[in-house]
This record gives sequence, C-alpha cells and structure tokens, in this order.
Amino acid sequence: MTTLEIKNLHVSVETEDEPKEILRGVDLTINSHETHAIMGPNGSGKSTLAYAVAGHPKYTVTEGQILLDGEDVLGMGVDERASAGLFLAMQYPVEVPGVTVSNFLRTAKTAVDGEAPKLRHWVKDVKVAMDALRMDSSFAERNVNEGFSGGEKKRHEILQMELLQPKIAILDETDSGLDIDALKVVSEGVNRVKENTGLGVMLITHYTRILRYIQPDHVHVFVGGRVAESGGRELADRLEAEGYDRYLTAAV
Ligand code: ADP
Ligand code: MG
Ligand code: MG
Repeated sequence: MTTLEIKNLHVSVETEDEPKEILRGVDLTINSHETHAIMGPNGSGKSTLAYAVAGHPKYTVTEGQILLDGEDVLGMGVDERASAGLFLAMQYPVEVPGVTVSNFLRTAKTAVDGEAPKLRHWVKDVKVAMDALRMDSSFAERNVNEGFSGGEKKRHEILQMELLQPKIAILDETDSGLDIDALKVVSEGVNRVKENTGLGVMLITHYTRILRYIQPDHVHVFVGGRVAESGGRELADRLEAEGYDRYLTAAV
C-alpha cells in the first residue's frame, strides 16, 4: 500500500519578469488502488501540479509538502522520484533523436530498478505489453516520439507505465487527441496495470469522456490553482452537464 500526499502545495513558475504563483494550496491524497480524476478549465494549474510532482526545474515549490509513504519527495531528484515509484510521463523528453523505443524502455527500466532487466524476461514482457496495447512490433525499433501520431505517443506512455510498474502514476490529458478506439486501448491499459499492480492514478483531464472507461473513485475540481471541490463520480456527471462556470464566477 502506497500513499502520495500533497499538502498545502504552493508553486511558482519562473517567467521573464518575476515568479508567478500558480498553485495556491493544493491538498490531495492518493492511495494505491485509487483513481482520482482532476478536472478543471484551461489554465487552472493542472499541468503545473503534474510538473511539480515530477520535479520539473521551472516550477518552484514555495510552500507545502509532497510525501510518498512519508518520504519527502521534494528532496528527491527526478530520477529518485521515478525509482521511488512515481510515474510521470512528462519527465521524459518529448523527442529522443536516434534512440529507439526498445532501447529507451530498457534504459528507463534499468534506471528505475537500479539494475538491468534480465534480457529473456524483458523481451517477453515488452512483447506482451505491446500486444496488449495493440502495437505493432516494428514500433519498438522506431525512434522515440519521432513522427509519432497522438495515439502512438499515448500508447508509448502507457507502454512505459506497464513496464516500469510504478506505484503512483500521473496521467496528464492522456485522453487528448485520441480517437475512440485508441482511447479504449489506452484506458484498458491503465485498468490492466491498476488491476495487476494496485497502481494509484491521478488522471488529469478536461473531459468526462475518458471517465467512462477509467472509473474514478474520487473527482476533484481544480480552479485557480487549488482544489475547489471534491466528490465522487457524480461530480464528473455534474461537470459534464453544467461546466465550470459556477466555480469561475465564485473564483473572481
Ligand atoms: P492547465 O494544465 O490546467 O491548463 P497549466 O498548469 O498549464 O494549466 O497553467 C496554469 C497557469 O500557469 C496558466 O496561466 C499558464 O499560462 C501558467 N504557466 C504554466 N507554465 C508556465 C510557464 N512555464 N511560464 C509562464 N506561465 C506558465
Ligand atoms: Mg492547459
Ligand atoms: Mg494542462
């Protein structure tokens, strides 16, 4: 059982003139086996939250704590966070020229586990995971993200998650740009990892569509850099019907 605790998190981003506060006191606790949907309008700070947990250097934590099973995540480097069991797709470079998916995955796995995976098992694990995501085996020999379609990028993210076996995954708009078939395959992948490993998920999304396939246990409305309301699945249905207007008016 793993717990990620985010307590009173304040985060500023470096801009050209002065640091700008974006997160203004975020409180959130995610346990193994739980899926938390974070929903909110554009610019509310959802990605900033993901980057701050990932340890992106542009985002400065000015107040608050992030704890993984009581351990201070903010004191860890990006690689240590991954080794501790946090999966954040954005921590990886957007494009990695000349590095194949196959080599990339093996390098990432070695970094996270602290030792290289046994080759025979590894080749089989990669094949099983790729088959499950309905990826052609030739995909493994392509260069990471070079010319990937939106759907291929997302499948590649989920493939990493399947193979790295994190404890807590943060998926930032994994549903954006996916057609309905790709959305189903990607959602099945997340559900499979959850079932097999008890993964805890922070699922950041604009839309309720993906929540038909990945059932959230908790839904949080994110507005103005903090959680404005939390509830169960019914909250997502209400957001779908009513939008974010009521929170935006309240925030002004
Ligand atoms: P969301 O993911 O909810 O759409 P973001 O976290 O991307 O929101 O952005 C929140 C706010 O922070 C926005 O106003 C955005 O312009 C600003 N912001 C985020 N990153 C940066 C950055 N690197 N430089 C300047 N402003 C930023
Ligand atoms: Mg945005
Ligand atoms: Mg975003």
